[in-house]
Amino acid sequence: MTEPTEQLSPMPTDWERALAVVAHPDDLEYGCAAAVAQWTDEGREVTYVLATRGEAGIDTIAPDACAPLREREQRASAAVVGVSAVEFLGHRDGVIEYGTGLRRDIAAAIRAHRPELVVTLNHRDTWGGAAWNTPDHRAVGRAALDAAGDAGNRWIFPELAERGLAPWDGVRWVAVAGSDTPTHAVDAGPGLERAVASLLEHRTYIEVLTDQEPEDYCRSFLTGVAQAAADRFGGRPAVTFELLPR
Ligand SMILES: [Zn+2]
Repeated sequence: MTEPTEQLSPMPTDWERALAVVAHPDDLEYGCAAAVAQWTDEGREVTYVLATRGEAGIDTIAPDACAPLREREQRASAAVVGVSAVEFLGHRDGVIEYGTGLRRDIAAAIRAHRPELVVTLNHRDTWGGAAWNTPDHRAVGRAALDAAGDAGNRWIFPELAERGLAPWDGVRWVAVAGSDTPTHAVDAGPGLERAVASLLEHRTYIEVLTDQEPEDYCRSFLTGVAQAAADRFGGRPAVTFELLPR
């Protein structure tokens, strides 16, 4: 006899503002965008903060040409799921250093936007023990978890207050997408088609990545990920998160 499948809890809904902090253009679109579409449909405000402009992401395009292209694709991608505020911190793609500089930049964004929910991407060494994670994802995920606390302490990064960014101790949760150990989920159904369209906006990246027809690639990838979580969410396709309360 097998163990009953442990069900994921629905994500909290008693919040107004989320800040999603990731390393690269496309990080949020590879799995999260259906949840973002759902949240913006409900009238919540979601802001994207990207540590880099993804300039090292396309082998055939040099960074100087790649950065503005990927920035443009990211803004279009965000707009599809109702996100108009997209900020880039300007760290160098591929060599983001975990440290106080990164924590300060993310804490500054948290103070500026005052979210109750911070969303980030898998900060652990591997994806499900099967594939090694990238150094950028590890650095940004960890720094986002740390900065949720830093933002509320006036004595950490006092220079931010001098820039007019008052402490914000209102982050109630950090939600880690792509976690091996999810605890919560959002129904992916209503936002799934927009999530496909959102990922498809990274067209230049995807055309280099795969020989598959781009829209087929986006739909089969996102449907597969959402469907894989369904048996833990009452049979509904889902976007999963590991929710860390603060
Ligand atoms: Zn990435």
